[in-house]
Amino acid sequence: MDLNTVTEVARPRRRADVPAWRAGDAWLAGGTWLFSEPQPGIGRLIDIAELGWPALQISEQGLRMAATCRIAELDAATFASAWIATPLFNQCCRSFLASFKIWNMATVGGNVCMALPAGPMIALTVALEGMCTIWTPDGNKRRIAIKDFVLAPQRNALKPGELLRAIDLPASALRRRTAFRQISLSPLGRSAALLIGTRDPERGAFTITITAATPRPVQLAFADMPASAALGERIEAAIPIGQYYNDVHGSPAWRRHMTLHFAEQIRCELAGENPA
Ligand SMILES: Cc1cc2nc3c(=O)[nH]c(=O)nc-3n(C[C@H](O)[C@H](O)[C@H](O)COP(=O)(O)OP(=O)(O)OC[C@H]3O[C@@H](n4cnc5c(N)ncnc54)[C@H](O)[C@@H]3O)c2cc1C
Repeated sequence: MDLNTVTEVARPRRRADVPAWRAGDAWLAGGTWLFSEPQPGIGRLIDIAELGWPALQISEQGLRMAATCRIAELDAATFASAWIATPLFNQCCRSFLASFKIWNMATVGGNVCMALPAGPMIALTVALEGMCTIWTPDGNKRRIAIKDFVLAPQRNALKPGELLRAIDLPASALRRRTAFRQISLSPLGRSAALLIGTRDPERGAFTITITAATPRPVQLAFADMPASAALGERIEAAIPIGQYYNDVHGSPAWRRHMTLHFAEQIRCELAGENPA
């Protein structure tokens, strides 16, 4: 779509060249959402693609994903076998309601900043305990857990002029066992429920992350694997029926049903039990 209110595009190559933020500015990442609908309030785009951030950086501490890492780059990456959680990357990349054209342009940071309930990069990074690094307009940076970054559909924790720089996934989370479940109303539809379970292979701690069924991610942590009833009760207490998301991609009642059903499947998979 032609954004006919845009009169200027800035293409900084380093932080010092990023122009001072002003009303009507928007960061441009892959542009897959920005150019998909009218943006009457935007006068200038600040393209972050040429800041040259390495897409993926592996260290002993874990994995740093640049905000500008494209979905296709993440999907194609390979990692050390000790990081047994990394099959989640492909599972989440393939949970977009999107073709290869979107995959090759859309970025991890753009998906997270959109803060849509069906944002699969949100599900991935919340499940793996991601920490965001944010550049602030005064030249400094701040850090915030990704689970606190997504506030509501299309609302995130960034203040005007702040830029999401990267998301760090700790090695301890990447070494967890994982189980993934996702459903849409139609075969290639937008996710109506996307749940990820992780389990610490040494201590047995279990975490379940619920996305797409709720307006923002819900994460529940257990010191040990809970019994079926205890897991269901915790979910019911955390998400009353009125707090399930309601849009054309699924009713709250169906989303609640699928959330409880998938949570139990995930519990059984990570406990090594057969579902009842
Ligand atoms: C056909 C189609 C299917 C789609 N399917 C899905 C889907 O299934 N799930 C889903 O969640 N989304 C979906 N989207 C929406 C969107 O394409 C994705 O969320 C995508 O990941 C956005 O990434 P982007 O890099 O293209 O962001 P852009 O379009 O460039 O930016 C999106 C927003 O985030 C801001 N932004 C981007 N990067 C940063 C940053 N680093 N710091 C601060 N702000 C930033 C921009 O200013 C803008 O407001 C779809 C879009 C289309 C057109």
